[in-house]
Amino acid sequence: MRILIVEDEKRMAQALCEILRLEKYDVDHYADGLEGLYAVETGAYDIIILDVMLPHKNGFDIAREARKKGIKTPILMLTAKSELDDKVTRLDCGADDYLTKPFMTKELLARFRALTRRNINTPDGTLAFGDITLNKDTSMLLCGENSVRLSEKELRILEYLIANQGRILTREQFAVKIWGYESDAEYNNVEVYMSFARKKLNFVKSKVEIKAVRGIGYELRYDYV
Ligand code: CA
Repeated sequence: MRILIVEDEKRMAQALCEILRLEKYDVDHYADGLEGLYAVETGAYDIIILDVMLPHKNGFDIAREARKKGIKTPILMLTAKSELDDKVTRLDCGADDYLTKPFMTKELLARFRALTRRNINTPDGTLAFGDITLNKDTSMLLCGENSVRLSEKELRILEYLIANQGRILTREQFAVKIWGYESDAEYNNVEVYMSFARKKLNFVKSKVEIKAVRGIGYELRYDYV
């Protein structure tokens, strides 16, 4: 598996390269935003780690431009606390997950595993996030030894959230995705089904949470630490 790191802080970059090489990943590193973007656009990587503040082009712009060009590689953005608060930028730049500096190695690796799993269409039709597994063929939500059957809409809501982990999805996006453009699904319908999905997560005793982000939408969260 090939990893791209775009980070201009020498010590941080060195540490990341070292950690990931120890885990047997092939790692390439660039310290410049423009060089980073060219590397991203080769499409040669399985996961991309982007710092936000970079010379010549910042991480948000790199992610945005890459997505515009159809690059679907999972992106893990490294942010400072203050940058994380910029919800609008987070929402539209197209990154898959965010890690706030400073972070623990085990947290980085946990996020990594989640991102690797994310794009793998497993032959058995499952999707994984945090402590849950979703089986699309049987409509079962699994957490450890617990399991529960999901309704069609609950399954689609969780599937959509897992596929977009690390991003905030708006109610409008849910309405369109789950009910379609044609339907006149009211936004409170979204809320009702979101609460059903939460109940199912509670039922299997998962620590995954569907967080409501006030005035914006919903986000899937799991505390890896
Ligand atoms: Ca930087």
